[in-house]
Amino acid sequence: MKTLRRTKFGNPILRKKTQQISKIPSDAFIKSMFYTMKRANGVGLAAPQVGKSWSIAVIEIKKTKVRPNIKPFQKTVIINPLISKRSAKMEKDWEGCLSFPSVRGLVPRHQSITVTFINEKGKKYVLKLTGFQARVFQHEIDHLNGILYIDRMRDIKTLMTMAEFEKRILKTGLKSR
Ligand code: ZN
Repeated sequence: MKTLRRTKFGNPILRKKTQQISKIPSDAFIKSMFYTMKRANGVGLAAPQVGKSWSIAVIEIKKTKVRPNIKPFQKTVIINPLISKRSAKMEKDWEGCLSFPSVRGLVPRHQSITVTFINEKGKKYVLKLTGFQARVFQHEIDHLNGILYIDRMRDIKTLMTMAEFEKRILKTGLKSR
């Protein structure tokens, strides 16, 4: 299985709104997206992050030591997604991004959303999501619109390297909410 080459912040493709998909990308491409995401320990990966300006992302959320209480989300391909509802209530939590290696920041997101998309088989979904699942969808759908998580941060002073994040936030259990 091939790891796709990942684009990093500064690459203009990450700032472009993607094209709607009319022809579903190949199985090989979609498998490579999942593989690339897993190899990088990500929970989501959007096409611009692997150099394609297409409206497609992959998501898979599993419980980890760092996030033992999250609701998992099975391997899903999301194509041409649209957020139709957003809660007024916002929630802050730490985020990283595979296009910003080894950096974390505190990002406010809508606590719940309703999202519509099709999967790789053309099946349509309308899902109401909350918490971390809603957060990951908002992060990935932002990528498809050329928006990065640093744009959503309210306090840029919370941006830190992974090493500082582990030392200050994870180890102390400190919640900067
Ligand atoms: Zn990202």
